Amino acid sequence: MERELASLEEASLRRSLRTNSAVPGSPGRMVRGTGPNNLLNLSANDYLGLSQHPAIVEAMRDTLLKEGAGAGASRLVTGNRMAYSFLEEAIAEWQSCEAALVFANGYMANAGVIRAVVGRDDVVFSDQLNHASIVDGILMSRAELARYRHNDMEHLGALLHKHRDKRRKLIVTDAVFSMDGDQARLRELALLKREYGAMLMVDEAHSGGIYGGRGEGLCHLLGIKDEVDIHMGTFSKAFGVYGAYVCGSRTLADFLVNKARPLIYSTAMPPALLAGIAQALVLVQQEHWRRDRLESAVRFFRDSLLSLGFQIPAGDSPIVPITIGDNETALRFSAALEEKGIAAVAIRPPTVPAGTARIRFSLSAIHTDEELRDAIACIREAGLQLGVIRR
Ligand code: PMP
Repeated sequence: MERELASLEEASLRRSLRTNSAVPGSPGRMVRGTGPNNLLNLSANDYLGLSQHPAIVEAMRDTLLKEGAGAGASRLVTGNRMAYSFLEEAIAEWQSCEAALVFANGYMANAGVIRAVVGRDDVVFSDQLNHASIVDGILMSRAELARYRHNDMEHLGALLHKHRDKRRKLIVTDAVFSMDGDQARLRELALLKREYGAMLMVDEAHSGGIYGGRGEGLCHLLGIKDEVDIHMGTFSKAFGVYGAYVCGSRTLADFLVNKARPLIYSTAMPPALLAGIAQALVLVQQEHWRRDRLESAVRFFRDSLLSLGFQIPAGDSPIVPITIGDNETALRFSAALEEKGIAAVAIRPPTVPAGTARIRFSLSAIHTDEELRDAIACIREAGLQLGVIRR
């Protein structure tokens, strides 16, 4: 282990945990370590700025006082509190689907669902840039992994053709890719799914809450939600809390209650958490201004970086990565930004492909115009200093 750690160190790939604290009343900022610093947080997924919302905190506190800290057992034993049914009905209504299930987090939802719905005789078609929890679910399922090049529909079509006689076929994709911020070609995926009689699973971790009139996500916005057999998203990002949802048919939900191991073999969620999510779901639907504000912040930030000469993938999501290339420069870029008062973490392999280390900025509706203008000035300075952009 020591040798492996040393070689990670040498390649600027060693990770260590750093301590961060919230700044009460300022969800867009954070404190690093024990210092008195107050950094603009451009590395959180709190897209709508809900993580400190008083109504959510109050709902959690009230439920904590009434129901206590833990659920005490898994859902199939005695942990299935009333709050689950209320929340799952509210999610099904929000998503206009037959049934919804809540999972403890997105990782468990993806890994548990994929492992439940496919097995040895099946094949899963997975975008090369899908989230690690999807990849782990496929590996655990023992189904064959047919990985297609990022957003390459021709490649996917060829793989679907090759495996057309397999028992069950599942196409799975992130709706918005977590490290690039670009979108899946969902309309084309829906057509291919039909053509080959496959199932389609979409992960809306980074699009749920953000797209659609009530934040239903990208599948709703694009009008393809009825083509999606398994629709998942998280409550840890735009919703500012924790947890995940899986939506689909009543049969799917009943099946998962019987087959999804994270739901069966893990303790139910603390009731206070369910109450916080339920309150966040109300706010996400009602407070449309948060989506509007986020949209204008994203437009300003992306346009400013492009005009400075930074390379960023096309898109309109609040995930805005600037590609740096080598790991060490990416780390130095991040450190330079921290000195200037900005938390923006370097993302390195294996999270992203080798040679594509980057700074992944993520924006929030709560960031002000002034904060973003200052941030752009600091990013410009760091970019010039490290030769990432030219004057
Ligand atoms: N899917 C995607 C696309 C993600 O980016 C993430 C989290 N980074 C997850 C799933 C896992 O969600 P959670 O953090 O709730 O476990």
